[in-house]
Amino acid sequence: MPKEKIELIITEKPAAAAKIAAALGKAEKRSLGGVAYYEIKKAGKRILVGCAVGHLFSLKQAEKSSGWPIFDIEWKPNYEVRKKDWSKKYYTTLQKLCKEANSFIVACDYDVEGEVIGWNILRFIAKKENAKRMKFSTLTASELKESYKNVMKEINFGQAYAGETRHKLDWLYGINLSRALMEAIKKAGSFKILSIGRVQGPSLHLVVEKEKSIQNFKPEPFWQVYLLVSNSHKVEVKYPKDITKKTELAKFKILKGKTAEATTKKTEEKVNPPAPFDLTTLQTEAYKFHNFSPSRTLQIAQQLYLAGLISYPRTSSQKLPPSIQYKELLKKLLKKYKKLVDYAKNSKPVEGKKSDPAHPSIYPTGEYKDLQAEEKKLYELIVKRFISCFCEPAALETKKIQVMVNNLKFTAKGLQIKDKGWMNVYPAKMQEKKLPDLNGKVKIKEIRIEEKMTQPPKRYTPASLVRELEKRDLGTKATRSSIVETLFDRGYIKGRSIEATKLGISLIDSLTRHSPIIIDQKLTRDFEKQMESIQTSKKELKQKSEKIIEEAKGSLKKIEKQFRKNEAKIGKELVASVNHIREQERKDNTLTPCPKCGKGNLRILYNRKSRRYFVACSAYPDCRNTYSLPPNSLIKPVLDKEGKNETCEHCNFPLLLALRKGKRPWKFCFNPECITRKEYNNNKETNESKKE
Ligand SMILES: [Zn+2]
Ligand SMILES: [Zn+2]
Repeated sequence: MPKEKIELIITEKPAAAAKIAAALGKAEKRSLGGVAYYEIKKAGKRILVGCAVGHLFSLKQAEKSSGWPIFDIEWKPNYEVRKKDWSKKYYTTLQKLCKEANSFIVACDYDVEGEVIGWNILRFIAKKENAKRMKFSTLTASELKESYKNVMKEINFGQAYAGETRHKLDWLYGINLSRALMEAIKKAGSFKILSIGRVQGPSLHLVVEKEKSIQNFKPEPFWQVYLLVSNSHKVEVKYPKDITKKTELAKFKILKGKTAEATTKKTEEKVNPPAPFDLTTLQTEAYKFHNFSPSRTLQIAQQLYLAGLISYPRTSSQKLPPSIQYKELLKKLLKKYKKLVDYAKNSKPVEGKKSDPAHPSIYPTGEYKDLQAEEKKLYELIVKRFISCFCEPAALETKKIQVMVNNLKFTAKGLQIKDKGWMNVYPAKMQEKKLPDLNGKVKIKEIRIEEKMTQPPKRYTPASLVRELEKRDLGTKATRSSIVETLFDRGYIKGRSIEATKLGISLIDSLTRHSPIIIDQKLTRDFEKQMESIQTSKKELKQKSEKIIEEAKGSLKKIEKQFRKNEAKIGKELVASVNHIREQERKDNTLTPCPKCGKGNLRILYNRKSRRYFVACSAYPDCRNTYSLPPNSLIKPVLDKEGKNETCEHCNFPLLLALRKGKRPWKFCFNPECITRKEYNNNKETNESKKE
């Protein structure tokens, strides 16, 4: 009797497994150790749909050792790398499903990360060299069915090797540079967890350079000159250049009362709709309109994708291929967005220049679901952008008035929107300015001179920094927002309008002086380009990957040479800035004079053993006054703009802020006698009961 055919479809996330199973037929939901999987009987075979939960494997040093550099790495299951790893049950379930199955399909997200996730499961759990591959850009039933029908014969080894190479490179850089920094600090007699990654170094360098140009900026005065001219109409015209020498203003001051010659020129202009969304543009626009950080935008977009509402968001494409079936899509959107779709007059969309071998640009699938506020905002931005691509250009009339006097030319510009076109659908920041026609002789009624100061360069925002990284080919579309996030987490940068911190600046200064390869943009970019070329190539993938890794090892050895030579200096410099930060923290954490003894000050302290913050008197051991604080939280003082403690309106104690993972920051009063204490106790209970 022939063996029963059992096919296992490996997906990346539980939500994707559910969608794929539902698309392929009548799926029975099963559960193994708390992990859902699905079974479908179809055409004489059994199809199992199982899921990972992102990466189930991590890179780890093969032989444990201290010191650096270290180059021996291997993939290990997460649960062997991290204690209490919650992905173990997914691993175990896939292990059982792999044993049952005799044919395999990888159906992870179609990009480098998805390919690595699937490849690792194949190699290390299923013990297979290859499998079939489903490729799709949306989790809609129709596309999933198509993708299953046209399943590819093998996984995308280009993506797999490119992804694995990136993991190895990042790991090698991350571990070695962090160890280098921490060892230098240790030898200088201090301790601090510091790290800098392969792309983080050059990225931080950008922010620090900007910070310095702002610090070194010296504002200079300059002047702008306006004339109020009139015949039957009054118009203010401007001298187009800024005047930087005060003495030059004399030639304008004599113009009052003179007669000038005015001409008006009109031009019609068409403005095409903007290109469809690639990830970076979506992140930029979501920041502009809704203030979402780039990583938040990616997170929400990922949820929308998993819900089947939009196409795959990690794309750099600005193309919309006909295969997505524009007409049907617009028809589906018509149900909910009729007013907008009515403006979609063209049968073909505008497209941008950027493309992506794996996915089209981000577009809505036309399916609906109730959404939460932030999801809805992002979803509708995507819907509007998509629809606007099919709209007519906007028609603008620009008007330029030119006034000549004493051989000096003054101008005024007007703008009128004749036909809004796509601007009816997608928000555009364009201000109308109406001007009358002004021709012939005019009188100069007034002269207005405005004194201004030159402005320092603008700081990056999280969105503009992501864009700058893209422009410089640093990082990838999928990693840039998390690189920026990491710089925040490490305390190297701060603020919505990004400032480099003392620590960030001194780290870059120290590395620039003593180990510049670490922050070399060109090297980082070269690696990026080589990995990209692996992704699209078909042969000698392993050799190409090994070549990059060898190059990375070579550059790490060079870094080691530079670094060791200057280790003492680097250590000393970093310790100085770490101490400075600690001093600042100590100041911030000192709250108020102790109400019990009146001699000491109350301070926020951290107990390493219980991993808990508490408030105690600085006169310890003479005064043993302490206050307990909520567990599982990072506690910070609440400071106003002048750096003073904000106080409780009921009891005047300084207020504290508790930051807890996945929860909103909570401002509270730590005085046990305070009437707001009730709230604190309630919160404490919920916190305690959540502990395992
Ligand atoms: Zn005290
Ligand atoms: Zn209080």
